[in-house]
Amino acid sequence: MTNRSPQYDFDIAIIGGGAGGVLTAIHALGLAGADVRIVLIEPTARLAQGVAYATRHAEHLLNVPARRMSAFDGQPDDFVDFLVAREGEAAREAIAVSYAQRRHYGEYLRDRLQRARETAAAHFEVLQDRVTSLDEADDMLRLGLESGGSIRVRGVAMAVGNNPKPLPARGASGLPGKSVLEAWDFDAIKQIPADAEICIAGSGLSMVDTALSLVANGHRGRVHVLSRHALLPLAHTKHAVADFDAEALLGMPLRQRMRVLRAAVRDADHQGLPWQAVMESARPLVQKLWLTLSHEDQRRFLRHVVRYWDVHRHRIAPQVHAQLEALQASGQLRLHRGRLQTVAREGERIRVTLMMRDRRTQELDVDRIVNATGVEMRAQLMRNPLLSDLLGKGNARPGMHGIGIDTCAEGDLVDAQGRNLAGVAVVGSLRIGQLWESIAVPELRGQAENAARRLLALARTPGRGDVGAT
Ligand SMILES: Cc1cc2nc3c(=O)[nH]c(=O)nc-3n(C[C@H](O)[C@H](O)[C@H](O)COP(=O)(O)OP(=O)(O)OC[C@H]3O[C@@H](n4cnc5c(N)ncnc54)[C@H](O)[C@@H]3O)c2cc1C
Repeated sequence: MTNRSPQYDFDIAIIGGGAGGVLTAIHALGLAGADVRIVLIEPTARLAQGVAYATRHAEHLLNVPARRMSAFDGQPDDFVDFLVAREGEAAREAIAVSYAQRRHYGEYLRDRLQRARETAAAHFEVLQDRVTSLDEADDMLRLGLESGGSIRVRGVAMAVGNNPKPLPARGASGLPGKSVLEAWDFDAIKQIPADAEICIAGSGLSMVDTALSLVANGHRGRVHVLSRHALLPLAHTKHAVADFDAEALLGMPLRQRMRVLRAAVRDADHQGLPWQAVMESARPLVQKLWLTLSHEDQRRFLRHVVRYWDVHRHRIAPQVHAQLEALQASGQLRLHRGRLQTVAREGERIRVTLMMRDRRTQELDVDRIVNATGVEMRAQLMRNPLLSDLLGKGNARPGMHGIGIDTCAEGDLVDAQGRNLAGVAVVGSLRIGQLWESIAVPELRGQAENAARRLLALARTPGRGDVGAT
């Protein structure tokens, strides 16, 4: 990586070196000619990490089978090939349906980026920096950098992901630093003393990560999990697809869709198939299912259905689910239904107050709190200087229903006046308001390839500045 304030112009800047940014770089390098200059800008020292793939711990598994995690739509076995190259051809079939360790996925993306760099004709460099502003400058775009200085580019792929939410409890800022841990701070979670009584706020996939690390550490203390709806992630089953025409859902309003889905689950059950088989039939249509809901039905979905949808859609590996169930069955993990209200120091411990559904309060005294409340979906609250700059200057506006940022159908940024900023392609979870399903690798790789193609075409269009070293 280079760490300097460059005085260069580039054809394409990729902002963010998480999975989305690295996938965009891999596709751009595969498609670009020798005269193209590409820069990837990422503040951290390691690429292809983000919250998901930064873990170094073996217990953190992908929640998608390896055969669906390729970087390339056209080469579905590519991730499996990467794993087979390490573990041997004999294991191929088992690997394809397995839930690989997440740390290996980051390694895979870095490996494929390295390969793409070695074979690419285009110029490529990585800049360790953070982009703090983006402005139109003559017929180019100017990116301001945290280290000072700026670069001019013809097109941008913005793949900045999203940020974890702060602990939503009064009194959180007054607690000593070590008592509140972030679920994504995997190494800090590993340091929790085995006898500590823990409260995990949130019951989604980050809670699962924490619970698995505790199990791997031989944790003995009680683990309280707080959940507003008392829902835990559900398990994948062996791959099965129900004979269910999910396309038919597209023409129906939300309520009717839910009725039809429930009926399809009952039918599947009569045929000896699990409910997961119905979800699998609908999986390829998830974006279309969102796009064909009326605005009002999308709001209803976000208000009433999303929690149930999430646990059915974002499932976990069966072996992970079994560990979670065993923790619950032993009584070590207790699920509490309620809303976190306050946290306060109580001698050496922390008092956590919950508001239950019947408006009664419940208190728990614990040694540590783990914040597993998930990621922020509202761009204006993400504490990302680039997003603050874009929203503040009217170069972007919040996405539909106030989540993510607004993009056109192709994925270009839409400004406060509703104009498409051609040349600023958004990749990943910031497109949530428009697409809903815009975070998992099967979506990211398609968006990355599409962004790379469009930005390269733009770079070839005369009139967007002449790129070269200044
Ligand atoms: C715990 C977890 C497990 C997951 N498991 C799976 C799975 O099994 N299968 C699957 O398909 N998906 C999974 N996902 C979803 C998805 O694959 C990941 O969230 C993925 O990491 C998203 O990548 P991203 O690049 O969009 O965002 P991120 O990983 O968040 O990367 C964004 C990057 O942008 C950088 N950045 C931010 N702002 C700026 C700026 N202003 N300037 C420069 N750089 C900036 C950040 O430093 C970061 O590196 C999982 C997600 C999580 C959280």
